[in-house]
Amino acid sequence: MLVFEAKLKGSIEQYEKLDEAIRTARFIRNSCLRYWMDNKGVGKYELSAYCAVLKKEFPFANNLNSMARQASAERAWSAIARFFDNCKKNIAKKAENAVLGFPQVERFSKTGFPRFKKHQTHASVEYKTTGYKLSEDRRTITFTDGFKSGSFNLWATRDLHFYQLNQIKRVRVVRRADGYYAQFCLDVDRKELREPTGQTIGLDVGLTHFYTDSDGKTVENPRHLRKSEKSLKRLGRKLFHSQKGSKNRIKHRNRLSRKHLKVSRQRKDFAVKLARCVIQSSDLVAYEDLMVRNMVKNRKLSKSISDAAWSVFRDWLEYFGEVFGVATVAVPPHYTSANCSNCGEVVKKSLSTRVHECHHCGFVLDRDWNAARNILELGLRTVGHTGTLNASGDIDLCIGGETPQCKPSRGKRKPKE
Ligand SMILES: [Zn+2]
Repeated sequence: MLVFEAKLKGSIEQYEKLDEAIRTARFIRNSCLRYWMDNKGVGKYELSAYCAVLKKEFPFANNLNSMARQASAERAWSAIARFFDNCKKNIAKKAENAVLGFPQVERFSKTGFPRFKKHQTHASVEYKTTGYKLSEDRRTITFTDGFKSGSFNLWATRDLHFYQLNQIKRVRVVRRADGYYAQFCLDVDRKELREPTGQTIGLDVGLTHFYTDSDGKTVENPRHLRKSEKSLKRLGRKLFHSQKGSKNRIKHRNRLSRKHLKVSRQRKDFAVKLARCVIQSSDLVAYEDLMVRNMVKNRKLSKSISDAAWSVFRDWLEYFGEVFGVATVAVPPHYTSANCSNCGEVVKKSLSTRVHECHHCGFVLDRDWNAARNILELGLRTVGHTGTLNASGDIDLCIGGETPQCKPSRGKRKPKE
């Protein structure tokens, strides 16, 4: 799936109509959620059927294109499905931790019960294959549903000419602080060839660096993000102190949300470039499976983690991994910084201890570097092996006893009797 984005240029009246469409999509999503909460055993199919009820009951819901209504119901369902999925994962995780003897960390058990969406600047409505029409030259788009928002010019750096119209699977209208955008989701399987590099890499998210890899190389937090963070704080303070309902407040709010938009774009830019670079230079990338949203709550760590844009980076890492055929492995974060990457013994240390010193083998290494080596090791173990060694069914890899552990058992056959 490829996504193209273009800014929509139109009049203020047209934008107001887009707002109506977005509001209606939100109304349908929230109504579906309410319906699910009030009625036991409602599934995806029932929600989709509920759209027809809403359409009859509320005339304005009828204005929205029928496929866009369905898409809104699907959104409600995906929030519900994610909630179920999280519950299952947490139960599995708890069981796994109990087996491994890891401490039960309460912060992993918080599950996201689906919430009602409130009005906010960043919002969207999704059309599938109907409800809009692209012009012949693909420079304008016309929305043809009941809101009659009319034709918009498309402003974009790339153009849609390379693709067939039937490759466009979804069109999303996104409202941001600086305007309205159309996102075209194209059904294109992006695959790129690359030469195997023979390198494997483990990444550790640090407090002082953006990451440290298993070879000891570090990547710094981008300075411009730090700078932006300061001005975000300043703008936030101004908004806080302005009078409610005043013109100044609207002005400050607008400035703040534009700044947020700018920072998120900078963050994305940094993440995309770095992720592509990491993926292209190794055959396997391992990193910790951190729940960033939970870690941001921890105030001590919050600054560096939210700032470091780790989750955005990770998404792009996994995306490029698929494009270039590189394995990306998220490993459980337990004990990655405590264990010695040389002998495997546990060496407890506090957050402020920057150097790993092993009492058992005398191994000394930078804390993050040590963690990155552990992460790589865990990653390589997790990937598993898909060879055909045991295809015949007889397993002779006996550990302990007389069988030497380190020597390969292959090629050693019993002499024929
Ligand atoms: Zn050691």
